Amino acid sequence: MDFKKLSKPLNQDYPNLQQHLNIEFNKIQTSWNELQAAYTNQIVRLQDLVIRARRGDIDQNYIPDALKDDQDKTLAKMINDCNDYLNAWDQKEQLIKDLVQKGFKYQNALDRNIKSGDDQQTLNGKLSTSDNRTCVICSNDNLYKNNSSRWHSLRDQLLKQREEDPQLQLIYVDFSYCSYKLDDMKVFSTGEAKNYESTPQPMSSLPLVQPKSEEIMNVLLLGESGVGKSTFINAFVNYLKFNNLQEAEKNTIVLIPVSFMMTTGDNFEEHLVKFEGKDDLSNEDHEHLGQSVTQHCKSYVFTLTDERSRGRKLRIVDTPGIGDTRGSSQDDANLQHILTYINNLTHLNAICILLKPNNARLNVFFRSCFMQLIDMLSENICDKIIFCFTNSRPAFYTPGNTATPLKALLQSLPIKTISFKQENTFCFDSESFRYLVARRNKIVFNDIEEQEYYDSWQKSSKESGRLIAYIRTKISTGIDPNQSYSVKQAQLKIYLMSRPILESMRNILRNIILSNVSKSRKVSLKLYPKTIRSPIAICLKCPRESIKIAEFWFTMDKLHVFINNKCRTCQCDPSDHYPIDYELVYKQTDDLSSKSENDIMNMLNDLCKTSAEFAHFLLESGGSSEHDPFLLGWKRMIQEEDDICAKKCSYELNFKLMQELQQLKDGYEKTKREMARRKESIELVDVYKKIENMSKCEMIELQMVAIREWHKNMIIYYEYEVPT
Ligand SMILES: [Zn+2]
Ligand SMILES: [Zn+2]
Repeated sequence: MDFKKLSKPLNQDYPNLQQHLNIEFNKIQTSWNELQAAYTNQIVRLQDLVIRARRGDIDQNYIPDALKDDQDKTLAKMINDCNDYLNAWDQKEQLIKDLVQKGFKYQNALDRNIKSGDDQQTLNGKLSTSDNRTCVICSNDNLYKNNSSRWHSLRDQLLKQREEDPQLQLIYVDFSYCSYKLDDMKVFSTGEAKNYESTPQPMSSLPLVQPKSEEIMNVLLLGESGVGKSTFINAFVNYLKFNNLQEAEKNTIVLIPVSFMMTTGDNFEEHLVKFEGKDDLSNEDHEHLGQSVTQHCKSYVFTLTDERSRGRKLRIVDTPGIGDTRGSSQDDANLQHILTYINNLTHLNAICILLKPNNARLNVFFRSCFMQLIDMLSENICDKIIFCFTNSRPAFYTPGNTATPLKALLQSLPIKTISFKQENTFCFDSESFRYLVARRNKIVFNDIEEQEYYDSWQKSSKESGRLIAYIRTKISTGIDPNQSYSVKQAQLKIYLMSRPILESMRNILRNIILSNVSKSRKVSLKLYPKTIRSPIAICLKCPRESIKIAEFWFTMDKLHVFINNKCRTCQCDPSDHYPIDYELVYKQTDDLSSKSENDIMNMLNDLCKTSAEFAHFLLESGGSSEHDPFLLGWKRMIQEEDDICAKKCSYELNFKLMQELQQLKDGYEKTKREMARRKESIELVDVYKKIENMSKCEMIELQMVAIREWHKNMIIYYEYEVPT
């Protein structure tokens, strides 16, 4: 039956559709589930019919009629519909995959809030991006189908342009699912306006490249879990965007989904207020309220509209909360992630510490936070720290009781240059934002309440203006985190380098084995790292395919889309997954390394020794022995080879490789033990030299390039630009 044919493709992966068109993807999932249910019903009905006929309960002649009844027709139609859907989806998946592979960023116009009735100017605003050099192509499925040649020529033009300018960001905005009717494909660019002969009416071009002083202001937002970071961001963008509460009420912006209880009136009536945000990647996991998950840093980019900074962009980096319910090792992991994230920003203007007033006890982790920030970014960061207080209305817009422990904490730091003064302290209140959301939920307030919210808005909105002015005038020069020279920075670099070093060693071993097996056959294996463009993990539970290249079996990476500690591809537990930052592909080549056997052995031993030294440095500088990234990597590689030997025939080379890996790992552990026994300490300057040496190895550097690309892609992936 057709149904059987259907069930196979539907269970296939559609990683791109799931990632980019989640809502649409869910629709087909739903109709598929309905079909499955209907199909099962029909089977049960037929079985029942047969049983009853056998028992003689019904006349056998009745059965052919029963088979032709309406239910069967409905089922056939459902199968047909599903089939049509599927064909369309196959094509769509292919289209997106192709675009993404060619380096386009794919976006659903719905996600940019584009809708029917938008005029040219609004549309331009919604399509504009924070990047200086961007080309946006607007199209939909119909235009693609009906005018395929023009579509392809437009795409190729852009690709050619990017060849000339590798920094150019290409974006494909898909209008297939939004209510705005696009009558023709359109291309426009930010930066230099270019004319495209094939676009009859190019849209008016967007603002030109901003001068250096107008570059984006990057602000890192740090706060304890439960301090109300999401609400703060929500409220802040409204304060910046609207002149007064009435204006905000008409068009309240809700970036991050919110839900809270609110009491109104003399009888303290309680209301549950809920509002879905625009952003499904937010740092609050609403399905499991109260349970924290590993979250990714996320950027919100606004265009400022006040007189002084008009047109300038502000990026607020939302981070996982401090004081994770899973304990301090999770806090450490979160901070590690935050520091890695800011390392990939071009610069940082301010670090905003979000606190509650009247909090007599500060989370102990704050101290560690300050220490590590100073360690990584040097003392220069101290005058870039600002303090923001949320919900400060009950404390009459002051830090209240929090001032004392905060001062004590700052005093206890070895470096005493972080100031906590009126100048760099800002007191907000998010009540007026709650009011706005409540109004959207049609909750009515009395005059006194309205007046209070009005005051709350006035005060907070003024503070927002003061905050922006402070950053613009007092701390306008950003610092480049990546340029700093510190223990923390070295640690982060080593973490990133661990997999490239290990994979290089494994591949060198493969080539040594190959050359030993057959001296006459001149074949070697090469690593080809591939950049990943979305958050990806490998599942250890799901079956993985193996392929054979040059007599070696390779376990292929099956890429699962993994967002906010949830796998969107399989049902296995998140802990069965490990995230990766690049994909490895292997190829067989005939050009053998020109190095002598001796050189190759030396190189291998050098890599092994350096990895032991790196691991020792990590441990010495405060890392935990359980989290030795090299040891974990060794174990994983050996396990992979072991699995292959257990599953495949003719695995001799893999078996040999497993033995060699084991031997090398033993050597690694021995070196590490020796260093620990001698209590050896490596100077930071030497660590930096070793890191530099490692990147001179082409095999490692190619993998590092892919990793750096991935980090840039992640910033884009987890970025939401608020439409102007
Ligand atoms: Zn799985
Ligand atoms: Zn998975």
